Amino acid sequence: MYAAPGFAQPAEDCLTDAKGECVICLEDLCPGDIIARLPCLCIYHKGCIDKWFEVNRSCPEHPGD
Ligand SMILES: [Zn+2]
Ligand SMILES: [Zn+2]
Repeated sequence: MYAAPGFAQPAEDCLTDAKGECVICLEDLCPGDIIARLPCLCIYHKGCIDKWFEVNRSCPEHPGD
């Protein structure tokens, strides 16, 4: 798993409200989608952020965190 110090695993959740766009795949986050909530409160598709974390350790929108 991703054991980067200081960066918690995102919380997995099922989205209940439309939350706009996932900046990784540029598709809409729709109710019913499995999403991941990051510590910075950004939300992405679970599958998208899992792939993102294979090559990055931080939020796509908050790379400095
Ligand atoms: Zn996505
Ligand atoms: Zn963020």
